[in-house]
Amino acid sequence: VLSVSQEFDFFYFVQQWPGSYCDTIKSCCYPTTGKPAADFGIHGLWPNYNDGNYPSNCDANSPFDPKKVADLRNGMQKNWPTLACPSGSGVAFWTHEWEKHGTCSESILDQHGYFQAALNLKRQVNLLQALTNAGINPDGASYSLSSIKSAIQEAVGFTPWIECNTDTSRNSQLYQIYLCVDTSGKTLIDCPVFPRGKCDSEIEFPSF
Ligand code: 5GP
Ligand code: 5GP
Ligand code: 5GP
Repeated sequence: VLSVSQEFDFFYFVQQWPGSYCDTIKSCCYPTTGKPAADFGIHGLWPNYNDGNYPSNCDANSPFDPKKVADLRNGMQKNWPTLACPSGSGVAFWTHEWEKHGTCSESILDQHGYFQAALNLKRQVNLLQALTNAGINPDGASYSLSSIKSAIQEAVGFTPWIECNTDTSRNSQLYQIYLCVDTSGKTLIDCPVFPRGKCDSEIEFPSF
């Protein structure tokens, strides 16, 4: 059978811990809609290749259009808040994510489908609950990278990748959590390839 050209192999579904986005030299700004809940927020749903490379900015003729996701707006404000400065409503963040990443899976998920898929995944995967159930709380304490990974693996059924950043005292902290999703955007899978980057073996989980 001839294969149909496929633009990508899988998605990374990436969530960020707001406490770690804020606890850096750059600091952060709360969205114009107010301080987000102390929960992981969506960063993005990123098409990727099995070799670790990824496509980006795939369709300059497909701008983000808030009208296409009007019914999802409340969910996006709650679950995909922006913390960049200056404060914004989220539209700039969602525009960036759609244009850089979402346009690369457009043949599978249109704009509404893309944002809906990310919101559905967030509901499916409760990372904070997975961690707190294992006694790993956003309290500024340090936890072993392996205990964090095990807690998520046990709750979600798949091994995540943890990305760390560093606070103003240069402590390594839990910044983003990556899970892999098949090209439908609906089903979690084992990651075909993991990202790169270093964490210490013990990492801080700051409060927010
Ligand atoms: P950074 O260089 O801060 O790790 O990543 C900057 C941006 O590049 C990310 O927010 C994301 O848009 C993109 N990016 C980084 N690593 C990956 C990756 O492994 N896969 C994909 N699809 N995008 C990535
Ligand atoms: P990526 O890293 O996906 O390429 O893009 C991140 C972009 O979105 C950056 O330009 C960043 O300033 C912007 N941005 C807006 N709000 C946020 C946020 O809450 N978290 C992150 N990581 N980036 C944000
Ligand atoms: P292992 O495969 O033995 O668990 O880990 C090999 C190396 O990768 C170790 O240096 C470990 O710290 C690092 N590593 C394992 N899992 C992760 C992760 O989720 N995130 C990051 N940043 N490094 C990891």
